[in-house]
Amino acid sequence: MRSVQLGRFFPRPFADEALFSVIQRVVLTHGGGKDKRIVSALFGSRSLQFCSQFPSVIPHLKGQSNIPCDSWITEHTVLPIYRLFTPQKRYESAVDALKVGKGNHVFKALGITASREKLTPIAKYCPQCAQADEKNSGLAYWHIGHQLPGLTHCVFHNERLSVMCLSRKKFDVWPIVSDSKSIKAPEGSEAERHLSLLINESFILGKTVGLIPDLYERYFSRLIARGFTTSCGHLRLQQLRTEMSAFWQGLSYHPCFKDALSTQHSLPFPSNLFAYQDACHSPIKHLLLIGFLFGDIATLMSFPNTSERVKKCPPVTKVRKPEADIEATIVDALTSGLSLRKVSEKFRVSIGFVKKVAVIHKIELDLRPQKIFRPEQDEIIDKLALGYPTQDIAKQCHCSIGAIETILSQHPDIVELRADTRKLRKRERMRLSLLTTINELQSPRRNDIKLKNGTAYMWLYKHDKVWLYDHLPAQIPRCYRRSKI
Ligand SMILES: [Zn+2]
Repeated sequence: MRSVQLGRFFPRPFADEALFSVIQRVVLTHGGGKDKRIVSALFGSRSLQFCSQFPSVIPHLKGQSNIPCDSWITEHTVLPIYRLFTPQKRYESAVDALKVGKGNHVFKALGITASREKLTPIAKYCPQCAQADEKNSGLAYWHIGHQLPGLTHCVFHNERLSVMCLSRKKFDVWPIVSDSKSIKAPEGSEAERHLSLLINESFILGKTVGLIPDLYERYFSRLIARGFTTSCGHLRLQQLRTEMSAFWQGLSYHPCFKDALSTQHSLPFPSNLFAYQDACHSPIKHLLLIGFLFGDIATLMSFPNTSERVKKCPPVTKVRKPEADIEATIVDALTSGLSLRKVSEKFRVSIGFVKKVAVIHKIELDLRPQKIFRPEQDEIIDKLALGYPTQDIAKQCHCSIGAIETILSQHPDIVELRADTRKLRKRERMRLSLLTTINELQSPRRNDIKLKNGTAYMWLYKHDKVWLYDHLPAQIPRCYRRSKI
């Protein structure tokens, strides 16, 4: 089918209409919603990410509609919600990626793990908005303001949003319009509505305002005023976490809240927010803190920023004073060919100290490059995301482990992903180990398995109980438990 140029026949987007909703209308108008060939003719491909959070179709839309890319991105995608909390350069690179149709690069620019995006795309709608749209515009269309990540309620009608599954192949899925009698009363917790208001506020402001100036200074000012600092100026992070959890307790079933508060992270929230201030954190994390400290974003932005920044809480580490005789053993270890890192681990001294000893004793070190350039960095990030050990990556890329760890520390989402991968691998090992134990026993009983392989049994009991009970032999009836069969 030859390519089609719609130009002035391109439908005008409705106010707050989601980009995939506009695409559905185009396909419906020009192909009856069923003719998939029209999709290729209009957008050059059928496999573009049409209903993704960051769709790859924007360059084609610009050509078809004469509407600039910036307008599509700001008015019809969820990207602006990230703007208030994302460093300007990273936000700009996300916008540039969308303009050239590289939706996947946006995840990287914003530090989001792409795999978290649901495999089946879903869309949310407000039944009352759907009814009003059908009356006013003739069609209940999809609002972009309802698709914001973490949003559960319509901020205009205070009603819980309904959810529908979309299809990557179907272009005729719309919100269901029901009569006013069947519209349910507002439900959900006050906390969910509060968070929805914050998400909406952040999205609206993000259309025109960039990164909030002195964001962390404002947090610190408020934290000092609320008594979340010690007399020597450190943050009381544990107290802050406890009080925030209590404040937002109505969100206990909210997936974004559970994810933010998860104890699986190497550094729990909100410590991670303060430890990596230059990193991109999910807007939800910022909004949970803002809601607790200020109530809303407008109050945060008008809050005076006059106090001195408090000290970051440094990790508690015991510094062992190297003694004179350690120097001699370090020299021996270095001359025998051990690496800086190995020597530092062996004698529990810093790498800096080992380097100093090497310089004093004129020992030549085989140092690997510390600085890594952009193409290599991207390759390293990909390998880190795939779960390769840092030692292996350092060897393959001919650089130091420290340099790899520095890159890793700039991507807290990858740190999290690697922790998940490690856990999955451990689960596989533990499952295999338990199955081997069961096969080795003549007539396996639960207690015998536990005694023979307590490590795997207890690990699975703690982390994988359902699988464990599915694979253990049946329980011995209570009346026979004392006798051996
Ligand atoms: Zn509504």
